[in-house]
Amino acid sequence: MASTKLNYRNDTLMLGFSDLKRLRSERPLVLTGGRGIRVFDERGRDYIEAVSSFYCVALGYSDEELIEAAIAQMRALPIYPSAIDRTVPAVMELAEKLAALSPMPQTHVTFATTGSEANDHLIKFIWYANGFSGEPRRRKIISRWSSYHGSTIQLTALGGGSDLHRSFAVPTDECLYVSHPNWPGGAEPGESESAYGDRLAAELRSVIEQAGPETVAAFFAEPVSVSAGMYVPPAGYFTKMKAVLDTYGILLVADEVVTGFGRTGQFWGTQTLDIKPDCMTSSKALSSAYQPISAILMSGDFYDRLERGSTEKGWFAHGGTYHAHPVAAAVALKTIEIYERRNLVAHVRAIMPAWARGLAALKDHPLVAETRCFGLLGAVQLKQPGDGGAVPASLRIGGLPAQVYQAGLEAGIIVRPLANCLVLSPPLIITTAEIDELFERLTRALDQVL
Ligand code: PLP
Repeated sequence: MASTKLNYRNDTLMLGFSDLKRLRSERPLVLTGGRGIRVFDERGRDYIEAVSSFYCVALGYSDEELIEAAIAQMRALPIYPSAIDRTVPAVMELAEKLAALSPMPQTHVTFATTGSEANDHLIKFIWYANGFSGEPRRRKIISRWSSYHGSTIQLTALGGGSDLHRSFAVPTDECLYVSHPNWPGGAEPGESESAYGDRLAAELRSVIEQAGPETVAAFFAEPVSVSAGMYVPPAGYFTKMKAVLDTYGILLVADEVVTGFGRTGQFWGTQTLDIKPDCMTSSKALSSAYQPISAILMSGDFYDRLERGSTEKGWFAHGGTYHAHPVAAAVALKTIEIYERRNLVAHVRAIMPAWARGLAALKDHPLVAETRCFGLLGAVQLKQPGDGGAVPASLRIGGLPAQVYQAGLEAGIIVRPLANCLVLSPPLIITTAEIDELFERLTRALDQVL
């Protein structure tokens, strides 16, 4: 890979999720190429991308079909907003495709650019629907404390609990929080899986009752909370939570920004976890992240409420220049076609045992407290002084996870360090031989820190 000579003053560029002081003195890792599950830096060194960038590059970094799909759409019509009374074929086709794949009845679809936008816009839609259904006070959104649903002001507030959210002092008046499910780590000593699920559902009921059920609009949850550290709920969790929500007429929103498209061993995380959502959001693997695009999927019942509001008001006053960008839509369509043609879900299922074995083998390492595995997701919990809670109180990068991350770069692997663990989410195309290589490199990184 060609080395790039860049004229660069270190702190001109502010990187996301970074330590701004360090940026002054340290040159960032500059990546100039990619092939399959690997990326290459400016010195030509290769790294296995064990997190698919931000849990998104499902088809790896060199899929020619996706590149060709982008070029073809660029040539045909590079940009046209889907709004007012106009759209383009790729966007129409993608909406139809997602509606057909959706686990919800009579799904309607709209698009945005990022996962954050999809979640943020959906909150607007929910407020709109409630406003026109005679329930304008139903505005509060519940999430799991220390979750991640995006970076807008509203979603920063909704995450709650970590530096990502707390530092910005965003207003949280319309946010409510319940505990993250974490089976078995979050259960009380001797508590059964079922009793633990009951306790979490009881907590939800109590939060709703205290807030006033007539003020609560929706509950947002990832099927498996990846950005919070890869925590898995107890069996039956979502059925129990949904029963509580239904009692009060509160919507269940599945944030499938990370978990969609085979990551959990079925097409949607909602299918793997037996979730019956009212709405879903999707992004990242939707286009294998080659182009920025996100989707909001709405059940027929929910969409009807938007339509009634729009009928009363005369229009639905929401849209954006780059929502449903034609090039992104064309790439997403091709991505889904590839998932189906190559049967990526079956591939993920076939390699899941090798993935689980690789993670389990790390448990014996002296630096590792525990490992968690779900589908093609993993977390390596590190032994860390002051590591108390089941769910990280802070997502700040520091301590042992940061050291292993650095050692990983030396060993040729990129992992995602969170407060007390490393999260893994490799491209879905990874092979068993590559899984072995990934864990060999990660073990080398852990050994180096010992
Ligand atoms: N929802 C979840 C579960 C995420 O993990 C993320 C990002 O990692 C988002 C939403 C936000 O997506 P984006 O970074 O595209 O705005």
